[in-house]
Amino acid sequence: MTREIDAVERVGVVGAGTMGSGIAQVAATAGYDVVMRDIEPEYVESGFETIADSLGRQIDSGTITESEAEAAEDRIEGTTDLGGLADCDIVVEAALEDVDVKRDIFGELDEVVDEDAVLATNTSTLSITTIAAATERPESVVGLHFMNPVPVMKGVEVVDGEKTDGDVLTLAHDFAEDLGKETWESDDKPGFVTNRILMPWINEGIRAFDEGVATKEDIDSGMTLGTNVPMGPLELADHIGLDICLHATETLHEELGDRYTPAYLLKRKVEAGDLGKKTGEGFYTYD
Ligand code: NAD
Repeated sequence: MTREIDAVERVGVVGAGTMGSGIAQVAATAGYDVVMRDIEPEYVESGFETIADSLGRQIDSGTITESEAEAAEDRIEGTTDLGGLADCDIVVEAALEDVDVKRDIFGELDEVVDEDAVLATNTSTLSITTIAAATERPESVVGLHFMNPVPVMKGVEVVDGEKTDGDVLTLAHDFAEDLGKETWESDDKPGFVTNRILMPWINEGIRAFDEGVATKEDIDSGMTLGTNVPMGPLELADHIGLDICLHATETLHEELGDRYTPAYLLKRKVEAGDLGKKTGEGFYTYD
């Protein structure tokens, strides 16, 4: 029975992007065999490069040794074939934040992955129950919401779908803890705990800037110095990506109504292609 952490040996990861590569890395570092799947060989390759860079930084900082990093890399297998995940005991999906894409992936996983395996999604805002309904085993589907950057951030949010079994939830907590993380649990409500509270905080920071309450630097200083958070809302929005913030806020707006209306300036910046750090221009300018 895979529903106990001791029986988990092989971990599948769907998506080799920012989050998928990070999840593959922490699972391999914790000693699991990992299969990382993306749709094109170059995306898989790029996932391996991200992992190599991140492990390199961990070696430099003395967090792991060179031989531990090499062993972790050797434990990760890349593939473009979803069938490569067949023998995995748990699969964590970290593909695009699009409900149709995720439902298609879960429908396919349902066909190929062992019936005892646990299927987890790293979705930030989408309903676990909606994704699980694309399978014949909704009781085996759970939310496992890692934070970015995965190798650095300590927390993982475990999300309880409408039909998620208790032992699947327990396994999700145990698995995340085995990766060196700390967990908390949320019901399957829009945005869960984190994004339900974080996104309107960022959105309000953007509104405050647009309405001339203070300069962007003063808004960020006000929140970092005044409330002891490590980053202010505008700096954090740039870090996450303004397109991702807008998408998450729109999902919350659809589900929870007007209190989540996206800030006008957030929409305008995304339309202009100023997405934050990744494009070099957001609320701040980056090299
Ligand atoms: P990303 O764009 O960096 O990576 C997504 C990857 O999924 C891409 O490489 C893409 O080619 C791949 N992909 C698309 N369809 C696929 C399929 N059918 N099979 C396999 N791979 C497929 O995105 P990301 O930032 O890593 O986000 C992934 C998920 O994690 C999203 O659901 C997102 O909401 C969630 N998330 C993101 C963050 C964040 O800060 N980036 C934080 C928490 C959760």
